[in-house]
Amino acid sequence: MSSSTAMVKFAKCEGFMQTLRERVDGHFTSQQISKRDIPAMYLKTLVILSWFAASYVGLVFFASTWPVALFLSVSLGVSMAAIGFNIQHDGGHGAYSDSRLVNHLMAFTLDMLGGSSFIWKRTHNVIHHSYTNVTGVDGDIDLGFLGRLSPHQPRYWFHRFQHFYLWFLYGFITIKWQFRDDFQALFTGRIHGTDVPRPNALELTQLIVGKLLFLTLAFGVPLCFHAWYYVALWFFVASFAQGVLLSIVFQLAHCVQEATFPMPDDASHRIENAWAVHQVETTVDFARTSRIVNWLTGGLNYQIEHHLFPQICHVHYPAIAGIVERTSAEFGVHYYAHQTLWQAVRSHYTWLRQMGRPDHSVAAATAAAAWRDRIFDVHHDVCAVPCDRPGLSPSQNVRDARSADHLRSQSGTHAHDAARVGRFCGWWATGRNIGVSHLPGES
Ligand SMILES: [Zn+2]
Repeated sequence: MSSSTAMVKFAKCEGFMQTLRERVDGHFTSQQISKRDIPAMYLKTLVILSWFAASYVGLVFFASTWPVALFLSVSLGVSMAAIGFNIQHDGGHGAYSDSRLVNHLMAFTLDMLGGSSFIWKRTHNVIHHSYTNVTGVDGDIDLGFLGRLSPHQPRYWFHRFQHFYLWFLYGFITIKWQFRDDFQALFTGRIHGTDVPRPNALELTQLIVGKLLFLTLAFGVPLCFHAWYYVALWFFVASFAQGVLLSIVFQLAHCVQEATFPMPDDASHRIENAWAVHQVETTVDFARTSRIVNWLTGGLNYQIEHHLFPQICHVHYPAIAGIVERTSAEFGVHYYAHQTLWQAVRSHYTWLRQMGRPDHSVAAATAAAAWRDRIFDVHHDVCAVPCDRPGLSPSQNVRDARSADHLRSQSGTHAHDAARVGRFCGWWATGRNIGVSHLPGES
């Protein structure tokens, strides 16, 4: 572990994750269903890989006009993103199957697409999933000088326009991984300021075989049939479509107005919240009732559930989202979901614009997120939970009132009332936040 990640610690867990785990496990037990090795997932894999193969074969061997080539290269790019969202991501997290070999094979689809499952496991599984939205540690919010995604990053004058130009630059992200980041991590042993362990012989062999396979598919085979400039053009179009889609799905989950960007305390290097609370509050769901978004993004529109339970196959996320949301409300944890894809896109656009403004200091960014607290403040007033503690703001008191520890520390009628009102507040916030009364999978 690098010095930067080694120093960051989270507050002690106060029962939130334990309660969540018990309830989610209870769901699988009561429904008598498996968390992994889902037949629907194997079928989905077959469909997506067939889509990828058909787009590739059609583009390389049959496309004879510009419109057809354009359509097939975009289709190829979107299918590659779908492989990443659905197959590689579940495999890389060990969420696809109980078999390590099957997970490994699924994760290897990333190598086939030019990435590295070995480096991904370090940057995504370890860094991003542990230190989500922690500036200077989470590489996923680090665009270098090109963009400012966090209020704790330096601002340059051209960030004033980042809400326009970043959408275009997102298209280059996979090319950057394929030809720069992976090699940088391999040769320097570091990426985004954190250490990457040296691969063993098997891991190195897999990385090299993967890159060779990718270069053969992307350039070797097409160059046997087409001029280099056509190969370069359609490779770029496919990569661009893939990169835009991958980036946007990530950004809508973490880089929006409703997500937080906590920093560890300077002296103790401790994040204010426990890990599970941190995951919920730095992440936002979107378009949860859209079957198309849910299918294509591999459940990554349920990113909160993914961050809490990355080893559960994504096809289960809609069913457990209600449990996570209700439990978050009970414990006073800010759970937020954009009702539609458009709302999430708009929130990301607004966040980029805010981060690019010259007067947007850390304090201003914190204030920009304060409206989240207003939701809790308002129904604090409505509910009038009689458990305010001196020295805490109204929103802190509501959070405190709904924390399990606090409820347990109460006695008699007051504890009962606090728990009941807390539950009411949770349901109130639930309906208000996402605007739907039932989630898929809920009765
Ligand atoms: Zn993940």
